[in-house]
Amino acid sequence: MAVLDLYNTLTKRIEEFKPNEDRKVRMYTCGPTVYHFAHIGNLRSYIMEDVLEKYLIYLGYDVTRVMNITDVGHLTSDADTGEDKMLKGAKREHKTVMEIAEFYKKAFFDDCARLNIKIPGIVEPATNCIPGFIHMIEALLDKGYAYEAGGNVYFDTSKLKNYYVLSSQNEEELQVGVRDDVEEDINKKNKTDFVLWFTKSKFDEQELKWESPWGAGYPGWHIECSCISIKHLGEYLDIHCGGVDNIFPHHTNEIAQSEAYLGHKWCNYWFHVQHLNNQSGKMSKSKGGFLTIPLLEEKGYNPLVYRMFCLQSHYRKPLLFSFDVLDNVKTAYEKLLNKIESLGSGGTLMEQEIEEYKEQFNSAMGSDLNTSQALTVLYDVLKSGLNDASKRYLIEDFDKVLSLGLLEGNTSSKEISKELAVLAEKLIEERNQARKNKDFARADAIREELAAKGIEIKDTREGTVWSLAR
Ligand code: AMP
Ligand code: ZN
Repeated sequence: MAVLDLYNTLTKRIEEFKPNEDRKVRMYTCGPTVYHFAHIGNLRSYIMEDVLEKYLIYLGYDVTRVMNITDVGHLTSDADTGEDKMLKGAKREHKTVMEIAEFYKKAFFDDCARLNIKIPGIVEPATNCIPGFIHMIEALLDKGYAYEAGGNVYFDTSKLKNYYVLSSQNEEELQVGVRDDVEEDINKKNKTDFVLWFTKSKFDEQELKWESPWGAGYPGWHIECSCISIKHLGEYLDIHCGGVDNIFPHHTNEIAQSEAYLGHKWCNYWFHVQHLNNQSGKMSKSKGGFLTIPLLEEKGYNPLVYRMFCLQSHYRKPLLFSFDVLDNVKTAYEKLLNKIESLGSGGTLMEQEIEEYKEQFNSAMGSDLNTSQALTVLYDVLKSGLNDASKRYLIEDFDKVLSLGLLEGNTSSKEISKELAVLAEKLIEERNQARKNKDFARADAIREELAAKGIEIKDTREGTVWSLAR
């Protein structure tokens, strides 16, 4: 089995990924807070987590992946202050919280379908699991890791040897940045303590409340992920994913309460995707004006162009969104699909060469999921002297992980017959040769010949692309 080296936020090193049990992976993903559309930044995280899951499957692992849906308890500040985001969404749209949750959950799954993101095998909304949260909070109280104050239940972070096991934040850093909008909560014994169960908060109209030993209330945000993960994946988790903003406080708090509850180490690998930024910084739902997949579609982009945009850069580097770059990717994507579409199916599989290209693909993906290098291997295959059957075989193989719909054809040129696609590629090739030989008359004649067949060509930095003339 090829080796997967992954950066682990817990050890701050690239390490060989080895699950607890041979060939079985238990994977957990923080799901969306369904009070609004997911923006393309959120979806960057889900695309890269999808690539991770699919690469593990590609390597032969049996992956069980769980994702929660946050439909209660996530306040506008990650640190227990502000309004419940779900309530905010409900007020904005004059609907109930559950109506909002249903609508945006469906919208999220639609986005995933358009981006070829596989929905994790187990998806559990937080509101399904209230008795489980209460049970876990009771156990934390019994073990002395939690306390009641002012009607709420808090986790006592001073009971841990190392609360900051995941993040390198220290007390000073916490006073600025992440928590600068935090109002002092006088119930907390320590500044980093966090709410496990609310019965009282500064907003009274919380719509969803449940009976509990501490009074009618609702869970804090962090408890849901610990509880849902342990419920479905047991006491030992192999890998936990999210965007980098989840490192603190969310994942730090998940580790605190899970390990306090279980009495041993919980999760070995922590995988975090860097942010998608726009000119004004991190793309975020609360700032408004964010981009969504339906919006990109309205502007004429196939969602898979955005997937390719993400795959072209490394998941641990911040990614700046711009339409200029997206346009370049669109051109490259269409050209790639056209190239693939023009492949025949001739020849018998060239097994040795296929193995060599697979090794290159594994070497790219195994190096901390170097997806842009994996795309280069795909281009190398297309340029290679392999026969078309072998090329097709490899493209299909790599696309199990890349999921760019490579063999589904270019939807913008769906109506074009196979013969026409082959002819277009052939004539473009000839035109490139003519231009190389400075035979511009011939190059122009070919452009006209293509136009007469209803094909428009465009010369770009990535080469010449063609599409059906509108
Ligand atoms: P949320 O719906 O806000 O709970 O976030 C869903 C996922 O998106 C989480 O894993 C976040 O860490 C991640 N996320 C939020 N903003 C961004 C961003 N700008 N770029 C990448 N991932 C993000
Ligand atoms: Zn979570």
